[in-house]
Amino acid sequence: MVKQTIQIFARVKPPVRKHQQGIYSIDEDEKLIPSLEIILPRDLADGFVNNKRESYKFKFQRIFDQDAKQETIFENIAKPVAGSVLEGYNGTIFAYGQTGSGKTFTITGGAERYSDRGIIPRTLSYIFEQLQKDSSKMYTTHISYLEIYNECGYDLLDPRHEASSLEDLPKVTILEDPDQNIHLKNLTLHQATTEEEALNLLFLGDTNRMIAETPMNQASTRSHCIFTIHLSSKEPGSATVRHAKLHLVDLAGSERVAKTGVGGHLLTEAKYINLSLHYLEQVIIALSEKHRSHIPYRNSMMTSVLRDSLGGNCMTTMIATLSLEKRNLDESISTCRFAQRVALIKNEAVLNEEIDPRLMIKRLQKEIQELKDELAMVTAEQRTEALTEAELLQLEKLITSFLEDQDPESRLEVGADMRKVHHCFHHLKKLLNDKKIFGNNTVSNTVSSESKDRDCQEPLKEEEYRKLRDILKQRDNEINILVNMLKKEKKKAQEALHLAGMDRREFRHSQSPPFPPGNPEEGQRMRLSSAPSQAQDFSILGNRSSLLHKKTGMREEMSLGRQEAFEIFKRDHADSVTIDDNKQILKQRFSEAKALGESINEARSKIGHLKEEITQRHIQQVALGISENMAVPLMPDQQEEKLRSQLEEEKRRYKTMFTRLKALKVEIEHLQLLMDKAKVKLQKEFEVWWAEEATNLQVNSPAVNSLDHTKPFLQTSDSQHEQSQLFSNKSSGGWEVQGQGTGRFDVCDVNARKILPSPCPSPHSQKQSSTSTPLEDSIPKRPMSSIPLTGDSQTDSDILAFIKARQSILQKQCLGSN
Ligand code: ADP
Ligand code: MG
Repeated sequence: MVKQTIQIFARVKPPVRKHQQGIYSIDEDEKLIPSLEIILPRDLADGFVNNKRESYKFKFQRIFDQDAKQETIFENIAKPVAGSVLEGYNGTIFAYGQTGSGKTFTITGGAERYSDRGIIPRTLSYIFEQLQKDSSKMYTTHISYLEIYNECGYDLLDPRHEASSLEDLPKVTILEDPDQNIHLKNLTLHQATTEEEALNLLFLGDTNRMIAETPMNQASTRSHCIFTIHLSSKEPGSATVRHAKLHLVDLAGSERVAKTGVGGHLLTEAKYINLSLHYLEQVIIALSEKHRSHIPYRNSMMTSVLRDSLGGNCMTTMIATLSLEKRNLDESISTCRFAQRVALIKNEAVLNEEIDPRLMIKRLQKEIQELKDELAMVTAEQRTEALTEAELLQLEKLITSFLEDQDPESRLEVGADMRKVHHCFHHLKKLLNDKKIFGNNTVSNTVSSESKDRDCQEPLKEEEYRKLRDILKQRDNEINILVNMLKKEKKKAQEALHLAGMDRREFRHSQSPPFPPGNPEEGQRMRLSSAPSQAQDFSILGNRSSLLHKKTGMREEMSLGRQEAFEIFKRDHADSVTIDDNKQILKQRFSEAKALGESINEARSKIGHLKEEITQRHIQQVALGISENMAVPLMPDQQEEKLRSQLEEEKRRYKTMFTRLKALKVEIEHLQLLMDKAKVKLQKEFEVWWAEEATNLQVNSPAVNSLDHTKPFLQTSDSQHEQSQLFSNKSSGGWEVQGQGTGRFDVCDVNARKILPSPCPSPHSQKQSSTSTPLEDSIPKRPMSSIPLTGDSQTDSDILAFIKARQSILQKQCLGSN
């Protein structure tokens, strides 16, 4: 049993703007516990509490400042927890902090760069690497991904889900057994045998989460997400199975209601979410107080699910994510206070071992049989009659399966019958002789002992005959070796031919651009050709792609107008820069992987050649020895040694390149998943926008039949609400929204700029509205604003032509004003 308090770490996020940074300092004296001091300016403190405190100091296990890399966070925080999980203990890592403080960035990772991948992908990578290294146990890994929103659980990995809204996902409910163990009904566990499979599940869950989110529910900030790795391990022959769970938790934003500054529906929700975190806090307070017998776990779903992680059988770690900008200082102080209370909680982690009843029965049956056999031996019940045909056959079968069994502890159980024991020995001897396991030695030993006996008696002729017979035997052996080599070479040549074929296919693939024009969804799939096993690995990518496609309801068929609108939307979207950047990196990695694959193939054939040369050399030496009548050459062969050191060098090179290729493969896989996700996001935003336009058209169409009567469309939260509602209604059977309304819609007035696609729309530009210039003000605050649509592809094309014209005018205006 391991007793441990919950470990607390702090991570400070880099500020969006340097000058907004609040004052804080980190004291990391090696002898002292690290501490974080936050200075609250007097005016802020005034409004915050009455006693005018200015400096707040908090202790943490470690504090990671703004420049801490994801790698450092993994190494220091997640790796030790993953290590305990591999040993069989439960583990939990949860991120707590206000919205925007970096919880998702820390737990899952950034959506742009490979180096930004967070704790989940790195932990998966680490766990699978360790499992591969450890051949002493048999492991199975399962993944589940749960989202809790408004006290309801949703299974993010539901395989049947046609993603559209959170409510469509299967609801997960809590069941408690008589021993007060929590079970989650409807939460699917998916087996993952490789890192790739597990990563695919993570991205599938994230994509489902993203698609299910609407501007109304803002699930990403208001829900808790629990990604769980379930690990079971068993030693061969043992009936004991170890189970361990690792929860990686991205909690809802911890900001308080007073700060959200929203009314109506959103306010109710904000309170509700805080209620869930409030219950978490209550549990934590109860746990940190001694002699509290009742811990209110049952008050909320999240505390019920994480019951073991809080004051139970688990090694738990909390990461307090802090955004220390001036306006966030008070929230950061709350986060630190929460962490201090969490640090008082003591957990007791035990090894979760369990006896598998089926294995236990087998073991006991075996033991009974052994005891019976022993008894028979002791009571000396001897049998003399010959074994029957059936018994012999049965014995031979037993021997075969015994020889084939890889388990080092397997035994050949024939019972206490000496006739059977003897027969087994006879049979094994026969097998050994047949297979010539003692091959040359036996032959040469027999030959030499025979010859010794005769040496002094036989005449010279007999001597010559013996020599010739020896040489013949040697030649026979050499021929055998050569035939074997030839077979191997032939096999290699066939493999090389096969690989070369794959290479050519891959080359053709890599020449086409990652996103062929006119089919934006179809990403490039990769296949490397360095080893057959890898080709197999990469086929998973294809599966993932189609899986994601199916999951996200991405469609192939769009009307021409809509396709064009999508192209423009995509081009002008801020994320397209990220997608393009990643495309570039992916291209580089592809060519690097391809070149590496080629070098690996070269190294492999070089290794083959060197081996062949060494064997040839060896055969020559032996032949020389025979012709000069020497058993072994006197001098060590320098040429052969040189070849051997070359071979070693080549093998090292091969290994290094292979390791690099493996790493590249993971990186490429990750980048492709990031791009898939970005594309789904883009598509989703496009669909939302498209649906908004449709609503807008319906609302405006009767009044907007002529150029001069067009009204600019201004976004209000109400209209946003209506549009989202419409979107979610319309999209309930997938997220495609068909063009609605048939009225013509033409736009032309002084305010027309407000309803045209922005030349540089981005989510960031929306957030920065308060500092925008008059020109920026005239540019819409949403990715693309009202353009009409009819659902009719011809009309859509007209509209598109119009948009393009307006866009170029707008761009000129932008340029002119600069
Ligand atoms: P939360 O999940 O707490 O709401 P996010 O993880 O979404 O916050 O982070 C908000 C933004 O800040 C994201 O754009 C993210 O990429 C960025 N970010 C967060 N932490 C860091 C960090 N340590 N380094 C760089 N960017 C960060
Ligand atoms: Mg988040």
